[in-house]
Amino acid sequence: MARRSRGLVLAVALAGAFCIAVRTQLSWVPPPTEGQPTARRQMLGAGVLASLGLAGPGAANAYELPPLPYAFDALEPSIDKETMQIHHDKHHNTYLVNINKALEGKEQPPILDMQKGAIKAGPAFRNSGGGYYNHNFFWLEMAPKGSGGEPSAKLAGAINDAFGSMDDFKAKFEAAGAPGARFGSGWVWLIVKDGKLEITSTPNQDNPLMEGVDATEGIPILGIDVWEHAYYLKYQWQRPAYIKAWWDVVNWNAVNGWYEDALQGKAPSADAASTAAAMVGIKKAKEAAAAQKKSGASFNFKFNTGFEAGMQFGS
Ligand code: MN
Repeated sequence: MARRSRGLVLAVALAGAFCIAVRTQLSWVPPPTEGQPTARRQMLGAGVLASLGLAGPGAANAYELPPLPYAFDALEPSIDKETMQIHHDKHHNTYLVNINKALEGKEQPPILDMQKGAIKAGPAFRNSGGGYYNHNFFWLEMAPKGSGGEPSAKLAGAINDAFGSMDDFKAKFEAAGAPGARFGSGWVWLIVKDGKLEITSTPNQDNPLMEGVDATEGIPILGIDVWEHAYYLKYQWQRPAYIKAWWDVVNWNAVNGWYEDALQGKAPSADAASTAAAMVGIKKAKEAAAAQKKSGASFNFKFNTGFEAGMQFGS
């Protein structure tokens, strides 16, 4: 049974690679890694078909837990391994399970399309649909220290225009996430609104794409999860220290692409071409690490098998 499904997964992977070669985009179908809570039925079901453009109308497309594009410990020391494991495998997975439950038997729109009307649609869509989208976004906008690049000249210029300087921007962003400003659970965001950058913050799993949100509405290009589950094991009461350390693991390559997209009115999604391009930076860092390992030098991060398998689709 295991061997047979592995063969099926391989066949699907090959079909996916062909499809991607044609579309020159990265597929985000979760690879069959051990210990991923995603059900095999989901991996081989509607999600794969949808990624190949084969899902018929009315198909029940269960959302899937995307694998991290790096190892659980790859963001240390900014974010510790255990926090990443629990955050991804338990918290993110719970939002996933609950939004799938809410939509069981119904057609599931691309998760991005659900955000705008999520508050009106009710708590399952707002909390679980929002939480699922926000965390998909969160994993992609982080990268191991040294592999996330820098803000593009265009984005850096816009940050200077809006906030005075990069340091001023960071200080304002950190202040918006401090417990006194965002009391309790929520997120802090850098958004594009009418072509300009703004900082805003949302409670719970709301995000700035949601109509009627208690925040400035706009397109998020950067966001930090300030729920206690995102930092408590390592930082306890020191949320500001977590936010400060987080800058080291921002994937600016992703943010740069999403900024360009946002100026065109497009919100971040896992299957955007800009997202796939941003992952190339991580891939290059991985290759450099492998080369250094061969030559005997050490490197302080490694990548998990999920990432390896995931990248096969795009290379
Ligand atoms: Mn979270």
